[in-house]
Amino acid sequence: MSDGGCSHLSIIDDVKPATSYECAECVKIGSSWVHLRTCQTCGVTHCCDSSPMRHATAHFGSSGHPVVASAEPGERWLYCYPDEAYAEY
Ligand SMILES: [Zn+2]
Ligand SMILES: [Zn+2]
Ligand SMILES: [Zn+2]
Repeated sequence: MSDGGCSHLSIIDDVKPATSYECAECVKIGSSWVHLRTCQTCGVTHCCDSSPMRHATAHFGSSGHPVVASAEPGERWLYCYPDEAYAEY
């Protein structure tokens, strides 16, 4: 695993857990999702890139919040959008 020169993942020492197990944006529009990701800047949970609406990526695009954590039970990894870097924790 490479950190790709990422400066965002290394500053996270407390990973924010998901506070909900649904994508609020998908619920609003009646869409569905595949997996969930939790923003490590503001704590919102959105759907992943395998989901039709890709709300987590849209959230990064609109907010600039760089790092998400998987909100899937048993998955313990972080992803940095600007650097396309993964880290397990
Ligand atoms: Zn980064
Ligand atoms: Zn969504
Ligand atoms: Zn955020």
